[in-house]
Amino acid sequence: MKSNKRALSHSTEREFGGALGATLIPVFLPLTVLYLLSVCRSPGASVLQWPPPLPPTAHLLDPVAPVIIAVWVALQGFLYLLPVGKVSEGLVLRDGTKLRYPINGFSALCWSGVLLGLCLWLGMPLGYLFDLIIPLAVCAIATSYLLALYLYIRSFWAPNHALALGGNTGNPLYDFFMGRELNPRIGRFDLKYFCELRPGLIGWVVLNLGMLMKEVELRDSPSLAMLLVNGFQLLYVSDALWNEEAVLTTMDIVHDGFGFMLAFGDLAWVPFTYSLQAMFLVVHPQTLSPLAATGIVLLNGIGYYIFRKSNSQKNQFRRNPTHPSVANLETIATATGKRLLVSGWWGFVRHPNYLGDILMALAWSLPCGVSHLLPYFYLIYFTVLLVHREDRDARQCRAKYGLAWDTYCRRVPYRIIPYVY
Ligand code: NDP
Repeated sequence: MKSNKRALSHSTEREFGGALGATLIPVFLPLTVLYLLSVCRSPGASVLQWPPPLPPTAHLLDPVAPVIIAVWVALQGFLYLLPVGKVSEGLVLRDGTKLRYPINGFSALCWSGVLLGLCLWLGMPLGYLFDLIIPLAVCAIATSYLLALYLYIRSFWAPNHALALGGNTGNPLYDFFMGRELNPRIGRFDLKYFCELRPGLIGWVVLNLGMLMKEVELRDSPSLAMLLVNGFQLLYVSDALWNEEAVLTTMDIVHDGFGFMLAFGDLAWVPFTYSLQAMFLVVHPQTLSPLAATGIVLLNGIGYYIFRKSNSQKNQFRRNPTHPSVANLETIATATGKRLLVSGWWGFVRHPNYLGDILMALAWSLPCGVSHLLPYFYLIYFTVLLVHREDRDARQCRAKYGLAWDTYCRRVPYRIIPYVY
Protein backbone atom coordinates (compact mmCIF):
# COMPACT_ATOMS: atom_id res chain seq x y z
CA MET A 1 0.00 0.00 0.00
CA LYS A 2 2.82 2.36 0.94
CA SER A 3 4.66 1.99 -2.36
CA ASN A 4 1.41 2.61 -4.25
CA LYS A 5 0.93 5.82 -2.31
CA ARG A 6 4.44 6.90 -3.19
CA ALA A 7 3.80 6.15 -6.84
CA LEU A 8 0.73 8.36 -6.66
CA SER A 9 2.63 11.22 -5.08
CA HIS A 10 5.44 11.11 -7.60
CA SER A 11 3.06 11.22 -10.54
CA THR A 12 1.51 14.55 -9.56
CA GLU A 13 3.05 18.00 -9.66
CA ARG A 14 2.45 20.38 -6.75
CA GLU A 15 -0.01 23.23 -7.01
CA PHE A 16 -0.63 26.54 -5.19
CA GLY A 17 3.09 27.17 -4.76
CA GLY A 18 3.81 23.71 -3.32
CA ALA A 19 4.64 23.28 0.37
CA LEU A 20 5.43 26.99 0.85
CA GLY A 21 2.07 28.05 -0.60
CA ALA A 22 0.30 25.39 1.43
CA THR A 23 1.95 26.75 4.61
CA LEU A 24 1.33 30.44 3.93
CA ILE A 25 -2.18 30.33 2.44
CA PRO A 26 -3.89 28.87 5.56
CA VAL A 27 -2.38 31.72 7.60
CA PHE A 28 -2.86 34.64 5.22
CA LEU A 29 -6.29 33.90 3.74
CA PRO A 30 -8.11 33.75 7.13
CA LEU A 31 -6.36 37.02 8.10
CA THR A 32 -7.44 38.49 4.75
CA VAL A 33 -11.07 37.64 5.50
CA LEU A 34 -10.90 39.40 8.88
CA TYR A 35 -9.03 42.35 7.38
CA LEU A 36 -11.57 42.81 4.54
CA LEU A 37 -14.51 42.63 6.94
CA SER A 38 -12.92 45.21 9.25
CA VAL A 39 -12.09 47.57 6.39
CA CYS A 40 -15.54 47.16 4.86
CA ARG A 41 -17.24 48.31 8.07
CA SER A 42 -14.92 51.29 8.59
CA PRO A 43 -16.03 54.76 7.44
CA GLY A 44 -13.13 55.09 4.97
CA ALA A 45 -13.44 51.53 3.59
CA SER A 46 -9.97 52.00 2.14
CA VAL A 47 -7.95 48.85 1.52
CA LEU A 48 -4.80 51.00 1.51
CA GLN A 49 -5.50 52.66 4.89
CA TRP A 50 -2.58 52.39 7.32
CA PRO A 51 -2.75 51.30 10.09
CA PRO A 52 -5.72 49.10 9.10
CA PRO A 53 -8.91 49.55 11.15
CA LEU A 54 -8.58 46.25 13.01
CA PRO A 55 -11.11 45.47 15.75
CA PRO A 56 -9.88 45.07 19.37
CA THR A 57 -9.22 41.42 20.26
CA ALA A 58 -12.26 41.40 22.55
CA HIS A 59 -14.50 42.08 19.52
CA LEU A 60 -13.25 39.00 17.67
CA LEU A 61 -15.25 36.61 19.84
CA ASP A 62 -18.86 36.49 20.91
CA PRO A 63 -20.55 33.52 22.63
CA VAL A 64 -23.59 33.84 20.32
CA ALA A 65 -21.52 33.28 17.16
CA PRO A 66 -20.61 29.58 17.69
CA VAL A 67 -24.24 28.87 18.61
CA ILE A 68 -25.46 30.43 15.34
CA ILE A 69 -22.85 28.53 13.29
CA ALA A 70 -23.64 25.22 15.03
CA VAL A 71 -27.42 25.63 14.60
CA TRP A 72 -26.97 26.64 10.95
CA VAL A 73 -24.71 23.70 10.05
CA ALA A 74 -27.00 21.30 11.94
CA LEU A 75 -30.04 22.67 10.10
CA GLN A 76 -28.34 22.28 6.72
CA GLY A 77 -27.20 18.76 7.70
CA PHE A 78 -30.78 17.88 8.61
CA LEU A 79 -32.12 19.28 5.29
CA TYR A 80 -29.39 17.33 3.41
CA LEU A 81 -30.54 14.08 5.00
CA LEU A 82 -34.25 14.64 4.29
CA PRO A 83 -35.43 12.02 1.79
CA VAL A 84 -36.66 14.56 -0.78
CA GLY A 85 -35.62 14.91 -4.43
CA LYS A 86 -33.80 12.40 -6.56
CA VAL A 87 -30.56 10.59 -5.85
CA SER A 88 -27.85 10.82 -8.56
CA GLU A 89 -24.71 8.86 -9.21
CA GLY A 90 -21.33 10.55 -9.44
CA LEU A 91 -18.66 9.69 -12.01
CA VAL A 92 -16.94 6.30 -11.89
CA LEU A 93 -14.25 6.16 -9.18
CA ARG A 94 -10.83 4.50 -9.48
CA ASP A 95 -12.15 1.27 -7.94
CA GLY A 96 -14.90 1.15 -10.59
CA THR A 97 -17.76 2.08 -8.20
CA LYS A 98 -19.99 5.17 -8.22
CA LEU A 99 -21.17 7.13 -5.19
CA ARG A 100 -24.77 8.26 -4.78
CA TYR A 101 -25.65 11.86 -3.90
CA PRO A 102 -28.97 13.43 -2.79
CA ILE A 103 -30.06 16.22 -5.15
CA ASN A 104 -32.08 18.29 -2.69
CA GLY A 105 -30.02 21.50 -2.36
CA PHE A 106 -32.71 23.68 -3.90
CA SER A 107 -35.26 22.34 -1.46
CA ALA A 108 -32.76 23.10 1.36
CA LEU A 109 -32.59 26.70 0.07
CA CYS A 110 -36.39 26.97 -0.03
CA TRP A 111 -36.79 25.51 3.49
CA SER A 112 -34.09 27.84 4.76
CA GLY A 113 -36.03 30.74 3.17
CA VAL A 114 -39.27 29.64 4.84
CA LEU A 115 -37.55 29.37 8.24
CA LEU A 116 -35.91 32.79 7.83
CA GLY A 117 -39.30 34.26 6.86
CA LEU A 118 -40.67 32.76 10.07
CA CYS A 119 -37.80 34.26 12.09
CA LEU A 120 -38.52 37.70 10.58
CA TRP A 121 -42.24 37.30 11.29
CA LEU A 122 -41.40 36.46 14.90
CA GLY A 123 -39.45 39.73 15.05
CA MET A 124 -35.93 38.28 15.16
CA PRO A 125 -33.43 41.03 14.44
CA LEU A 126 -31.68 39.60 11.37
CA GLY A 127 -29.74 42.87 11.03
CA TYR A 128 -27.78 41.68 14.08
CA LEU A 129 -25.75 39.54 11.63
CA PHE A 130 -24.07 42.77 10.55
CA ASP A 131 -22.91 43.49 14.12
CA LEU A 132 -21.85 39.89 14.66
CA ILE A 133 -20.07 39.42 11.34
CA ILE A 134 -16.48 39.30 12.65
CA PRO A 135 -17.12 36.76 15.47
CA LEU A 136 -19.11 34.69 12.97
CA ALA A 137 -16.20 34.75 10.53
CA VAL A 138 -13.76 33.79 13.31
CA CYS A 139 -15.98 30.79 14.15
CA ALA A 140 -16.31 29.76 10.50
CA ILE A 141 -12.52 29.92 10.10
CA ALA A 142 -12.00 27.87 13.27
CA THR A 143 -14.58 25.34 12.02
CA SER A 144 -12.76 24.96 8.69
CA TYR A 145 -9.43 24.39 10.51
CA LEU A 146 -10.98 21.75 12.78
CA LEU A 147 -12.74 20.07 9.86
CA ALA A 148 -9.54 20.00 7.79
CA LEU A 149 -7.63 18.51 10.73
CA TYR A 150 -10.30 15.82 11.17
CA LEU A 151 -10.21 15.09 7.42
CA TYR A 152 -6.43 14.83 7.41
CA ILE A 153 -6.34 12.43 10.37
CA ARG A 154 -9.17 10.19 9.17
CA SER A 155 -7.64 9.95 5.67
CA PHE A 156 -4.95 7.60 7.07
CA TRP A 157 -7.66 4.96 7.51
CA ALA A 158 -8.93 5.40 3.93
CA PRO A 159 -8.08 2.74 1.33
CA ASN A 160 -5.55 3.71 -1.32
CA HIS A 161 -8.10 4.01 -4.13
CA ALA A 162 -10.09 6.54 -2.06
CA LEU A 163 -7.20 9.03 -1.93
CA ALA A 164 -7.00 12.07 -4.23
CA LEU A 165 -4.14 12.04 -6.71
CA GLY A 166 -3.06 15.58 -5.81
CA GLY A 167 -3.08 15.47 -1.99
CA ASN A 168 -0.98 12.43 -1.30
CA THR A 169 2.60 13.69 -1.44
CA GLY A 170 3.76 12.73 2.04
CA ASN A 171 4.33 16.39 2.99
CA PRO A 172 1.89 16.88 5.90
CA LEU A 173 1.34 20.62 5.36
CA TYR A 174 0.74 20.26 1.64
CA ASP A 175 -1.53 17.24 2.06
CA PHE A 176 -3.46 18.96 4.90
CA PHE A 177 -4.02 21.89 2.53
CA MET A 178 -4.88 19.97 -0.66
CA GLY A 179 -6.82 17.17 1.05
CA ARG A 180 -5.83 13.50 1.03
CA GLU A 181 -9.19 11.76 0.77
CA LEU A 182 -11.31 12.34 -2.32
CA ASN A 183 -14.82 11.69 -1.01
CA PRO A 184 -14.78 11.44 2.81
CA ARG A 185 -18.11 10.20 4.11
CA ILE A 186 -19.71 9.44 7.45
CA GLY A 187 -22.17 6.73 6.49
CA ARG A 188 -24.04 8.13 3.50
CA PHE A 189 -23.24 11.74 4.51
CA ASP A 190 -20.72 13.08 1.97
CA LEU A 191 -18.74 15.78 3.76
CA LYS A 192 -17.23 17.48 0.67
CA TYR A 193 -20.44 17.49 -1.36
CA PHE A 194 -22.35 18.85 1.67
CA CYS A 195 -19.86 21.67 2.24
CA GLU A 196 -19.62 22.60 -1.48
CA LEU A 197 -23.14 23.97 -1.86
CA ARG A 198 -24.94 24.04 1.50
CA PRO A 199 -23.83 25.83 4.70
CA GLY A 200 -21.52 28.39 3.07
CA LEU A 201 -23.37 29.07 -0.16
CA ILE A 202 -26.82 29.36 1.42
CA GLY A 203 -25.13 31.14 4.34
CA TRP A 204 -23.87 33.78 1.89
CA VAL A 205 -27.41 34.84 0.86
CA VAL A 206 -28.54 34.74 4.51
CA LEU A 207 -25.72 37.15 5.40
CA ASN A 208 -26.81 39.34 2.46
CA LEU A 209 -30.36 39.32 3.83
CA GLY A 210 -28.96 40.29 7.24
CA MET A 211 -27.22 43.30 5.62
CA LEU A 212 -30.48 44.28 3.92
CA MET A 213 -32.33 44.11 7.24
CA LYS A 214 -29.60 46.21 8.87
CA GLU A 215 -30.15 48.82 6.15
CA VAL A 216 -33.89 48.73 6.89
CA GLU A 217 -33.10 49.26 10.60
CA LEU A 218 -30.85 52.23 9.83
CA ARG A 219 -32.72 53.87 6.94
CA ASP A 220 -36.26 52.42 7.10
CA SER A 221 -36.15 50.77 3.68
CA PRO A 222 -33.65 48.87 1.54
CA SER A 223 -31.87 50.83 -1.18
CA LEU A 224 -32.10 49.93 -4.87
CA ALA A 225 -28.38 49.08 -4.84
CA MET A 226 -28.91 46.65 -1.91
CA LEU A 227 -31.92 45.05 -3.62
CA LEU A 228 -29.90 44.54 -6.82
CA VAL A 229 -26.93 42.96 -5.00
CA ASN A 230 -29.26 40.69 -2.99
CA GLY A 231 -31.30 39.78 -6.07
CA PHE A 232 -28.31 39.03 -8.34
CA GLN A 233 -26.55 36.91 -5.75
CA LEU A 234 -29.74 35.06 -4.78
CA LEU A 235 -30.21 34.23 -8.47
CA TYR A 236 -26.64 32.90 -8.64
CA VAL A 237 -27.01 30.73 -5.52
CA SER A 238 -30.46 29.48 -6.59
CA ASP A 239 -29.04 28.58 -10.01
CA ALA A 240 -26.16 26.64 -8.43
CA LEU A 241 -28.58 24.69 -6.24
CA TRP A 242 -31.18 24.20 -8.99
CA ASN A 243 -28.37 22.69 -11.13
CA GLU A 244 -26.80 20.91 -8.17
CA GLU A 245 -26.25 17.72 -10.15
CA ALA A 246 -23.69 19.56 -12.31
CA VAL A 247 -21.36 19.86 -9.30
CA LEU A 248 -20.83 16.10 -9.50
CA THR A 249 -18.68 16.54 -12.61
CA THR A 250 -16.65 19.56 -11.40
CA MET A 251 -12.94 19.57 -10.57
CA ASP A 252 -13.74 20.04 -6.87
CA ILE A 253 -15.72 16.81 -6.63
CA VAL A 254 -13.95 14.67 -9.23
CA HIS A 255 -10.32 15.68 -8.81
CA ASP A 256 -9.55 17.59 -5.59
CA GLY A 257 -9.23 15.96 -2.20
CA PHE A 258 -11.14 17.42 0.74
CA GLY A 259 -8.68 19.39 2.82
CA PHE A 260 -8.19 22.90 4.16
CA MET A 261 -8.39 24.51 0.70
CA LEU A 262 -11.97 23.43 0.04
CA ALA A 263 -13.13 23.42 3.69
CA PHE A 264 -12.01 27.02 4.23
CA GLY A 265 -13.19 28.10 0.77
CA ASP A 266 -16.65 26.63 1.25
CA LEU A 267 -17.26 27.54 4.90
CA ALA A 268 -15.43 30.83 5.43
CA TRP A 269 -14.20 32.45 2.24
CA VAL A 270 -17.40 32.21 0.17
CA PRO A 271 -19.94 33.44 2.74
CA PHE A 272 -17.78 36.13 4.31
CA THR A 273 -16.03 37.66 1.30
CA TYR A 274 -18.80 37.21 -1.27
CA SER A 275 -21.16 39.21 0.97
CA LEU A 276 -18.76 42.18 1.13
CA GLN A 277 -20.77 44.24 -1.37
CA ALA A 278 -23.96 44.03 0.70
CA MET A 279 -21.98 44.85 3.83
CA PHE A 280 -20.31 47.79 2.12
CA LEU A 281 -23.73 49.22 1.20
CA VAL A 282 -24.85 49.23 4.86
CA VAL A 283 -22.06 51.63 5.82
CA HIS A 284 -21.68 53.42 2.46
CA PRO A 285 -25.14 53.91 0.94
CA GLN A 286 -25.26 54.55 -2.82
CA THR A 287 -27.84 56.20 -5.02
CA LEU A 288 -28.46 54.56 -8.39
CA SER A 289 -30.20 56.29 -11.29
CA PRO A 290 -32.85 54.21 -13.10
CA LEU A 291 -30.62 54.24 -16.21
CA ALA A 292 -27.60 52.93 -14.29
CA ALA A 293 -29.74 50.29 -12.60
CA THR A 294 -31.13 49.17 -15.99
CA GLY A 295 -27.62 48.91 -17.45
CA ILE A 296 -26.44 46.85 -14.46
CA VAL A 297 -29.47 44.52 -14.66
CA LEU A 298 -28.78 44.06 -18.38
CA LEU A 299 -25.11 43.27 -17.74
CA ASN A 300 -26.03 40.69 -15.10
CA GLY A 301 -28.60 39.21 -17.48
CA ILE A 302 -26.05 38.86 -20.31
CA GLY A 303 -23.47 37.34 -17.94
CA TYR A 304 -26.03 34.92 -16.53
CA TYR A 305 -27.20 33.91 -20.03
CA ILE A 306 -23.65 33.10 -21.20
CA PHE A 307 -22.84 31.31 -17.91
CA ARG A 308 -25.98 29.18 -17.84
CA LYS A 309 -26.15 28.35 -21.57
CA SER A 310 -22.50 27.31 -21.81
CA ASN A 311 -22.54 25.24 -18.60
CA SER A 312 -25.77 23.51 -19.67
CA GLN A 313 -24.42 22.81 -23.15
CA LYS A 314 -21.32 21.07 -21.83
CA ASN A 315 -23.23 19.15 -19.14
CA GLN A 316 -25.75 17.96 -21.70
CA PHE A 317 -22.96 16.96 -24.10
CA ARG A 318 -21.11 15.03 -21.39
CA ARG A 319 -24.25 13.29 -20.13
CA ASN A 320 -25.79 12.49 -23.52
CA PRO A 321 -23.90 13.56 -26.69
CA THR A 322 -26.76 12.37 -28.90
CA HIS A 323 -29.31 14.73 -27.32
CA PRO A 324 -30.88 16.90 -30.10
CA SER A 325 -29.65 20.15 -28.46
CA VAL A 326 -25.98 19.12 -28.85
CA ALA A 327 -26.01 16.35 -31.48
CA ASN A 328 -25.33 18.79 -34.35
CA LEU A 329 -22.36 20.55 -32.77
CA GLU A 330 -18.93 20.05 -34.30
CA THR A 331 -16.59 17.96 -32.15
CA ILE A 332 -13.12 16.44 -32.26
CA ALA A 333 -12.27 12.92 -31.15
CA THR A 334 -9.73 12.21 -28.38
CA ALA A 335 -7.78 9.06 -27.61
CA THR A 336 -9.85 8.52 -24.44
CA GLY A 337 -13.03 8.00 -26.46
CA LYS A 338 -14.51 11.27 -25.15
CA ARG A 339 -15.02 14.09 -27.69
CA LEU A 340 -14.38 17.82 -27.31
CA LEU A 341 -16.83 20.47 -28.52
CA VAL A 342 -15.33 22.91 -31.03
CA SER A 343 -18.50 24.77 -31.99
CA GLY A 344 -21.33 26.34 -30.00
CA TRP A 345 -20.33 28.08 -26.77
CA TRP A 346 -17.17 25.96 -26.39
CA GLY A 347 -16.03 27.01 -29.86
CA PHE A 348 -16.40 30.70 -28.90
CA VAL A 349 -13.75 30.65 -26.16
CA ARG A 350 -12.28 27.75 -24.14
CA HIS A 351 -14.13 28.77 -20.99
CA PRO A 352 -17.32 30.67 -21.93
CA ASN A 353 -18.76 29.80 -18.49
CA TYR A 354 -15.94 31.78 -16.82
CA LEU A 355 -16.64 34.77 -19.10
CA GLY A 356 -20.30 34.82 -18.01
CA ASP A 357 -19.25 34.51 -14.37
CA ILE A 358 -16.87 37.49 -14.67
CA LEU A 359 -19.55 39.68 -16.29
CA MET A 360 -21.89 38.87 -13.40
CA ALA A 361 -19.13 39.66 -10.88
CA LEU A 362 -18.82 43.12 -12.47
CA ALA A 363 -22.59 43.61 -12.26
CA TRP A 364 -22.50 42.78 -8.51
CA SER A 365 -19.84 45.40 -7.86
CA LEU A 366 -21.23 48.29 -9.91
CA PRO A 367 -24.23 49.01 -7.59
CA CYS A 368 -21.60 50.00 -4.98
CA GLY A 369 -20.44 52.93 -7.13
CA VAL A 370 -16.91 53.62 -8.29
CA SER A 371 -15.55 55.59 -5.33
CA HIS A 372 -14.05 52.55 -3.53
CA LEU A 373 -11.93 49.60 -4.58
CA LEU A 374 -13.24 47.27 -1.86
CA PRO A 375 -16.56 46.29 -3.50
CA TYR A 376 -14.51 45.28 -6.56
CA PHE A 377 -12.48 42.86 -4.45
CA TYR A 378 -14.71 39.96 -5.56
CA LEU A 379 -14.32 40.87 -9.24
CA ILE A 380 -10.53 41.11 -8.96
CA TYR A 381 -10.07 38.01 -6.81
CA PHE A 382 -12.53 36.01 -8.92
CA THR A 383 -10.84 36.95 -12.20
CA VAL A 384 -7.48 35.84 -10.73
CA LEU A 385 -9.10 32.61 -9.44
CA LEU A 386 -10.65 31.81 -12.81
CA VAL A 387 -7.45 32.57 -14.74
CA HIS A 388 -5.58 30.22 -12.37
CA ARG A 389 -8.38 27.64 -12.54
CA GLU A 390 -8.37 27.80 -16.35
CA ASP A 391 -4.64 27.14 -16.31
CA ARG A 392 -5.03 24.15 -13.92
CA ASP A 393 -7.85 22.76 -16.03
CA ALA A 394 -5.89 23.22 -19.28
CA ARG A 395 -2.94 21.30 -17.79
CA GLN A 396 -5.25 18.49 -16.71
CA CYS A 397 -6.96 18.42 -20.13
CA ARG A 398 -3.60 18.37 -21.92
CA ALA A 399 -2.57 15.41 -19.76
CA LYS A 400 -5.90 13.68 -20.48
CA TYR A 401 -6.33 14.44 -24.18
CA GLY A 402 -2.77 15.08 -25.48
CA LEU A 403 -2.70 16.06 -29.16
CA ALA A 404 -6.47 16.42 -29.38
CA TRP A 405 -6.29 19.13 -26.72
CA ASP A 406 -3.61 20.98 -28.72
CA THR A 407 -5.86 20.78 -31.80
CA TYR A 408 -8.74 22.20 -29.75
CA CYS A 409 -6.53 25.06 -28.53
CA ARG A 410 -5.54 25.90 -32.10
CA ARG A 411 -9.19 25.85 -33.21
CA VAL A 412 -10.30 27.94 -30.20
CA PRO A 413 -7.36 30.26 -29.49
CA TYR A 414 -8.85 32.45 -26.72
CA ARG A 415 -9.18 31.11 -23.19
CA ILE A 416 -11.80 33.33 -21.55
CA ILE A 417 -12.25 36.71 -23.27
CA PRO A 418 -12.40 36.73 -27.09
CA TYR A 419 -9.50 38.63 -28.70
CA VAL A 420 -8.13 39.60 -25.25
CA TYR A 421 -7.21 36.45 -23.28
P1 NDP B 1 -15.86 23.60 -16.12
O1 NDP B 1 -17.34 23.45 -16.01
O2 NDP B 1 -15.36 24.75 -16.89
O3 NDP B 1 -15.31 22.24 -16.68
C1 NDP B 1 -14.01 22.03 -17.23
C2 NDP B 1 -14.06 20.67 -17.85
O4 NDP B 1 -14.92 20.69 -18.99
C3 NDP B 1 -12.72 20.19 -18.41
O5 NDP B 1 -11.93 19.62 -17.40
C4 NDP B 1 -13.20 19.13 -19.41
O6 NDP B 1 -13.55 17.96 -18.63
C5 NDP B 1 -14.47 19.75 -19.95
N1 NDP B 1 -14.22 20.47 -21.20
C6 NDP B 1 -13.36 21.49 -21.40
N2 NDP B 1 -13.42 21.92 -22.69
C7 NDP B 1 -14.36 21.15 -23.28
C8 NDP B 1 -14.88 21.09 -24.60
N3 NDP B 1 -14.44 21.91 -25.55
N4 NDP B 1 -15.84 20.18 -24.86
C9 NDP B 1 -16.29 19.35 -23.91
N5 NDP B 1 -15.84 19.35 -22.64
C10 NDP B 1 -14.88 20.23 -22.34
O7 NDP B 1 -15.25 23.54 -14.66
P2 NDP B 1 -15.32 24.44 -13.37
O8 NDP B 1 -15.66 23.52 -12.24
O9 NDP B 1 -14.06 25.22 -13.27
O10 NDP B 1 -16.52 25.50 -13.57
C11 NDP B 1 -17.91 25.22 -13.42
C12 NDP B 1 -18.66 26.54 -13.18
O11 NDP B 1 -18.46 26.95 -11.84
C13 NDP B 1 -18.17 27.70 -14.05
O12 NDP B 1 -19.28 28.43 -14.51
C14 NDP B 1 -17.34 28.53 -13.12
O13 NDP B 1 -17.35 29.89 -13.51
C15 NDP B 1 -18.04 28.30 -11.81
N6 NDP B 1 -17.18 28.50 -10.64
C16 NDP B 1 -17.58 29.40 -9.71
C17 NDP B 1 -16.81 29.62 -8.58
C18 NDP B 1 -17.25 30.61 -7.56
O14 NDP B 1 -16.60 30.71 -6.53
N7 NDP B 1 -18.30 31.37 -7.80
C19 NDP B 1 -15.54 28.90 -8.34
C20 NDP B 1 -15.21 27.99 -9.41
C21 NDP B 1 -16.01 27.79 -10.51
P3 NDP B 1 -13.90 16.54 -19.29
O15 NDP B 1 -13.44 16.56 -20.71
O16 NDP B 1 -13.19 15.54 -18.44
O17 NDP B 1 -15.40 16.41 -19.19
